[in-house]
Amino acid sequence: MTQFAAEDLLDPPAYPDVGYALLADRIGAVMRSFDDVVFVQAEAVVALEAVAASLAKPGLKVLNVVTSMYGDYFATWLRRGGAVVENVVAEPGRPVDLAVFQAALDAMAEVDVVVLVHGEAANGVLNPLPEIAESAKARGALLVVDAVASIGAHQFEVQTLGIDIAVIGPQKGLGGPAGLSAISVSEAAWAKIAEEPALRLSTLSLLDLKEKWLDLGADALPGTPAPLEFWALDAALDRIDAEEDAIETVIERHQLAARATRAGLRALGVPPWIEDDGSASALVTAAPVPAGVEPQALVDASGGFEGAAISLGVGGVEHLLVRLNHTGIRAAYRPVLANVVAYGQALAALGQSVDIDAAIEAVARAYQDAEPVGSAE
Ligand SMILES: *Cc1c(COP(=O)(O)O)cnc(C)c1O
Repeated sequence: MTQFAAEDLLDPPAYPDVGYALLADRIGAVMRSFDDVVFVQAEAVVALEAVAASLAKPGLKVLNVVTSMYGDYFATWLRRGGAVVENVVAEPGRPVDLAVFQAALDAMAEVDVVVLVHGEAANGVLNPLPEIAESAKARGALLVVDAVASIGAHQFEVQTLGIDIAVIGPQKGLGGPAGLSAISVSEAAWAKIAEEPALRLSTLSLLDLKEKWLDLGADALPGTPAPLEFWALDAALDRIDAEEDAIETVIERHQLAARATRAGLRALGVPPWIEDDGSASALVTAAPVPAGVEPQALVDASGGFEGAAISLGVGGVEHLLVRLNHTGIRAAYRPVLANVVAYGQALAALGQSVDIDAAIEAVARAYQDAEPVGSAE
């Protein structure tokens, strides 16, 4: 059943102890972070729970932006640890409204932590991170950002924005493994995490990672690290570094994929679900499910088109939007074109009127107009 040679999977050499700190530095560079970077040896949702479990204290006051189920999860984890969480919930499939966010922030007499997801792969939202960061900093709050679905697709600058905790996974925009995640943690965040009662002796404890790895010289990781995951992360970072401008090129490729997809949808005659280009994810583009169309029928009708990857929205938006996936190696001309044509043909098959020729032309033009670096395959 395996697609791999057994010798590639079995008995792999251990990842060298000296390599972990180097990997952490390289992840820090991708995030533009000079803070500590620790690894969680699990998929990114575990790293998010570790952040919430480690930060939560009885009475900690948190303003939590909710633009998908990840925000709901985060509130649940924080409350489990005794935190007092105020949620700012956006309209389904929409970015948080800055005025609503600011009003919620102003209404809090004290705020220790502000939490948000930067980009949403579940519904194609991009939240206004720089503005929220500025407001959070003005209140002296720690800023926690889930950048799992924005790293590699959007500019993400921990240092410039003053982000205290950033969580990433390599499996989306960076094209890396899903079984390993990384967290950037500022001095101020470490201080909050270390306040009693602090979470220790837990697989979710960031303090354990600090005390048993960073503080011991960031050499061997505690426990038995999974070598294949670390080798794969190493390879993913090598592939990024082989690009002319490294991470900048990867970001531009996703940005171009989003621009071309959005131009294609507009030419088709169906504007993207999020009409403001600056509020849309560059990993996936949300396209509307027109009135009278059954979402699953739309996805099914697009399924026969080779190279397309269209799926239902996730987290309560299934009836509103579908997602055109242009993540990682799919951030390229052919997958983008396949997505737009598949969506158009599916709509046509379901009785909608669309202009597929115009869409093809618009996608092609977006790629022709782009800098050559983004135009690979
Ligand atoms: C994908 C994603 C995650 C992590 O999901 P896993 O697939 O469980 O690793 C976390 N947050 C956001 C916003 C995501 O899009």
